[in-house]
Amino acid sequence: MAAAPFATPQLKGYPVIPLVQQGAMAHSKPFVASAPIQKALGFPEELVENWQDKAIAKMGELLGKYRSLRVYMDTCVHCGACSDKCHYFLGTGDPKNMPVARQDLMRKVYRRYFTFAGKYFPWLVGAVDLTKEVLDDWYSYYNQCSECRRCSVFCPYGIDTAEVTMAAREIMASVGQGQKYSNEIIGKVHRIGNNLGIPAKALENTLEGLEEDTKEATGVDVRFPLNVKGAEVLLVTPSADFFSEPHVESLIGYAKVFHAAGISWTLSSHASEAGNFGLFIGNYDQMRDISMRVREAALELGVKRIIVGECGHAWRVAYNFWNTLIGPFDFLDQRYPVPQHICECTYDLIQRGALTFDREANDGRIITFHDSCNVARASRMGGMPGGQFIIPRAIIKAVANHFHDMAPETIREQTFCCGGGGGLLTDDLMELRVKGALPRMEALKSVVDEHGVNFMATICAICKAQFSKVLPSYGFEMEMIGGVHQLVGTAIRLGSPK
Ligand code: SF4
Ligand code: SF4
Repeated sequence: MAAAPFATPQLKGYPVIPLVQQGAMAHSKPFVASAPIQKALGFPEELVENWQDKAIAKMGELLGKYRSLRVYMDTCVHCGACSDKCHYFLGTGDPKNMPVARQDLMRKVYRRYFTFAGKYFPWLVGAVDLTKEVLDDWYSYYNQCSECRRCSVFCPYGIDTAEVTMAAREIMASVGQGQKYSNEIIGKVHRIGNNLGIPAKALENTLEGLEEDTKEATGVDVRFPLNVKGAEVLLVTPSADFFSEPHVESLIGYAKVFHAAGISWTLSSHASEAGNFGLFIGNYDQMRDISMRVREAALELGVKRIIVGECGHAWRVAYNFWNTLIGPFDFLDQRYPVPQHICECTYDLIQRGALTFDREANDGRIITFHDSCNVARASRMGGMPGGQFIIPRAIIKAVANHFHDMAPETIREQTFCCGGGGGLLTDDLMELRVKGALPRMEALKSVVDEHGVNFMATICAICKAQFSKVLPSYGFEMEMIGGVHQLVGTAIRLGSPK
């Protein structure tokens, strides 16, 4: 069924809090996962008969397991500090896209079944039964949250709406109401090893093609090795890096860095995906099973370091969860961060003078940097406070002459989501994706108008894919988006390492 047409919001010169439009996005829902997709992940194939009881039981289980969830349910004082901080509210005006209202969809049900007042005096505390209508609202609005955590930066209690969204999605999947896009991708990783479903042979051919292309462009034999036992580094990168534009340009950049620094490295066909959609559906079992492929590949290949490519949520999973889910990593070289981000690796080499650049090669680009949510608000780099903001910018400035940051309230900890994160990068949510990109597009327009910016660098595969799609809706060139290592790859000198 074709999606209904919608109007792209107008870019304004300054941020405007929209007028509230009740139900403006009530129609927005991603496709529900089909029976085979659900079954492959061990979830019920369709909405189970006694779904209310099962959903409440699952909610009870999560409240018991995650103390944070119960605290978030109990502590909100409805101060409203978060209400105008979500890009989906700013882009759509739908009041249920205010973070507090999104949380309240679950909080009302929590009160009804898990608090004394809600059980006996529901009308006094705004408690509601979990009806089919409520479940439908959950499905719609918990799939209008990219789990970006911007709202939590402004909440005086640090309430994390992303965790509430993850819990809601986990409850829904457990009663047979999973989301097609994310669950289908997770199934592909289990079967084939990556989100795009690229078989090992196709990956091998692609990497051979990249070697030929790079040789033709540079005259240098830059390798793109696969499944090489005894390599020092295992690179785990989003599978979009193998095929999509502009992602592949960053893969070429990583390969050039390893070549120039004389580091032996390999990709793995078993762990050919850094992304981990288990995070998006709030399911730690899925997250662990997907991550485990990386540990297995590292042991099988006998590498000494694991480096993660440009992917926001992959870095969050690696940085926050790998040690707990698939550690210990005592078999790796402890002189390097475990795991290490490709930006940490490149930055370290720059600091040590191991790489040289022709910055003028990027002179056609006037660059800004989009901080990706999962890197900005859920991880660090370089073992220093704010390293995740400092390091990518330092790399850009080392390889290019023209850089301008966007407005301070739209970058670093306060960065706006691209609009397609958290399992929402699907065509059935295009209206949400375009409207949710509005705050970033307005900030971009300011630096375009003021400084002539023509390139927005980022270190996230989802941001790259999302912006490629939505930039033209706002009158920008699709080619404006690219990776930090795309810039590195343009400027790097491929001589022998110093
Ligand atoms: S986590 Fe992000 S997308 Fe979700 S409600 Fe908060 S600001 Fe909006
Ligand atoms: S800022 Fe925090 S306490 Fe205030 S309404 Fe939002 S979630 Fe509730």
